[in-house]
This record gives sequence, structure tokens and C-alpha cells, in this order.
Amino acid sequence: NSNLNPSYRFENFIEGDCNRLARSAGYAVAQKPGITSFNPLMFYGGVGLGKTHLVQAIGNEVISADNSKKIIYVASEKFTNQFIEALKNNNLQDFINYYKEVDVLILDDVQFLKEKEKTQEIFFHIFNHLHQSGKQIIMTSDCAPKDLKGLQERLVSRFKWGLTADLQAPDFETRMAIIQTKMQADGIDIPEQVIEYIAYTVDTNIRELEGVVISLIAHASLTKKEMDLELAKQILKNIVTDIDSEVGIDYIQKTVSDYFNVAQDDLKAKTRKKEIVIARQVAMYFSKDYTNHSLKSIGYHFGGRDHSTVIHAVQSVNDMIDTNSKFRFSIDELKKKLKIRTA
Ligand code: ADP
Ligand code: MG
Repeated sequence: NSNLNPSYRFENFIEGDCNRLARSAGYAVAQKPGITSFNPLMFYGGVGLGKTHLVQAIGNEVISADNSKKIIYVASEKFTNQFIEALKNNNLQDFINYYKEVDVLILDDVQFLKEKEKTQEIFFHIFNHLHQSGKQIIMTSDCAPKDLKGLQERLVSRFKWGLTADLQAPDFETRMAIIQTKMQADGIDIPEQVIEYIAYTVDTNIRELEGVVISLIAHASLTKKEMDLELAKQILKNIVTDIDSEVGIDYIQKTVSDYFNVAQDDLKAKTRKKEIVIARQVAMYFSKDYTNHSLKSIGYHFGGRDHSTVIHAVQSVNDMIDTNSKFRFSIDELKKKLKIRTA
């Protein structure tokens, strides 16, 4: 009984720039557990970025190649509780032997062992035994080993013996691929435009992205309404927590177009009229300053423009601020208006 969840596999782990190194290291280890120099193998990164999925995929891959291999997946919290139980019941030796017998030990979320001196000691002991016997150790953590304060130095230094790879927040292409894959798996047909909108809006972690997709799918199948951009926006408003809590691009566009007395839609249109171009550039400039959107995402919200257009807009605005005092005044006025909402 390995405790592995069979649905976490390499086949459904989508590869992108954000996880390529981690994924390929994981795949190499899965082919030759204990034999590569990636021992221990350690993945770190924030919540919902795929650490658990990836380490379980390694376990499942090892088992499907050779099901005589003994693999244990255990969360550090559970490991700690088992250890405490063993102490209480006077069968510490059984606990230790159980872990010493494995070919692959996967310990998830080692940051949980912080300040748990006795548990760290026992893990240190098991780690040394496994490593010396050429067994594979795989771990995850929510931060880089050097930032694992509260873990004994001798343990942390061993973590660095093998390979450490980080999982980063998913980039746009990876988010698109993840949404498309999940939709396909559920046989739901959602317009490309909606998928793009989700990928641009939900850019923190994959777990949240999945949650959004699940809600949309549920909504679509329960109401039998056709999923279009408007409906998707409405649903997202209620589930994505920070979607409206900060100054968003939409709010900036409204404020800036009001101020310059142009239509908000013109900011997204092709028009090259001078006053519209200026309003558009100013709105891009503030979007860059006041939101966390990437250049690419900002361009998208201005009628699908290129990220280089956004860079150019920011430069133009900065130039005008330097050379034109009337313009500088307008920018200050707008800053005041926009800051009202940030406070
Ligand atoms: P973590 O352990 O880093 O908090 P998880 O491994 O639990 O994150 O991942 C959160 C969710 O996102 C899981 O349902 C997982 O299947 C999914 N997920 C993460 N990364 C990917 C990926 N690259 N491709 C497909 N699904 C992913
Ligand atoms: Mg996890």
C-alpha cells in the first residue's frame, strides 16, 4: 500500500516553461529510481503549483514499470503523527523498519517538520539509511532549502546533495493548455475566447485555475446555457477572490476614458485618432503601474494588442510627463482618482 493516488500521472501533467526542469528531472528519476545523481530529488514552490501531482506521478510511473518496487508516499504531517503514535505505543522500531524497507520514499511538504526536532531526527536517520542503500528519496517543500528555517542544518545540507528544482507559477501558454485539457476531459465545448479570458484572469496557481474550470463546467451543464464571454465573466466574478478587490484594467479604462472624454470601447478599437491614442496609452501606462497584469495580458485587454505596443505606450507616456507640464498635471489628476480605489 503505497498511498499513491493513481490519477496523478505524467500523462496528465502538462509541461510548460514553469515546470520543465522539475518535470524532466522527475521523469529521469522515475526511470531509474536511486540510480541517478538526483538523490534526493526535491521540488519546491508555492501552493497549487503541482508538487504533489509531480511526485505522485513519479511513484505511479515506477510502479507501472515494476510493481515489485516498494514505494511510500507520505505527507510530512502524517509522518509526524505516525511517529508520535509509534512512540506512544512503544513500537518505534516497527515504524523505522517500515520506512527503511522502501525503494522510493516520497515525503511531501517537508516544511511541516520545522521545529519538530524528534521527527527530524528520525527522518535524518531514515534518510541516511536509504541514501546509503541506493534508495530514492523524493521531497517537496513550499520554499527553497536555504529558506527552510527551523529545520536542522545537517538535514537541509543533505537535501542539497541531489537535485533541487522549483515549480513556478504557470505561464499563459501552460494555463491555456491546462484549461483546454480539463475541458476536453469533461467533453465540454467552450469558446476559445472564454478559455483565453480565464487564462488571462486566473494566473496565480493551478489549483485555483482548476476550481474555476470546474465551476464553469458545472454551471454550463446545470443551466444548459451556452457559455459565452459575458456569462463566464459573471461566474468568475463570484469565485475569483481578488478579481475586483484591486484597481483592475477595466476600472482604469473607465476612469481614463471618462477623463479624456472618449468612449471606453475606443481604447480597445483600432482608431488612430490622436486623443484616443493618448487616452489609450495613458490607460496602458496605469494598467502597468497599478495592476499585476503582464504586458501581454494588458495588450490583450486593449483589443488584443502586442506586448511591445504596451512597452511603447509606457515609454511615450513617460516622455510626455517629462516634456509637457499640462500632460503631467493630467497624469497627477488621474493618479488621485485611481488611488481613491486602491486605498
Ligand atoms: P501543490 O502540491 O504544489 O500544492 P498540487 O500538485 O496539489 O499542488 O496541484 C494542484 C492541482 O493542480 C492538482 O489538481 C493538480 O493535478 C493540478 N496540476 C498542477 N500542475 C499541473 C500540471 N502541470 N498539469 C496539469 N495539472 C496540474
Ligand atoms: Mg501538495
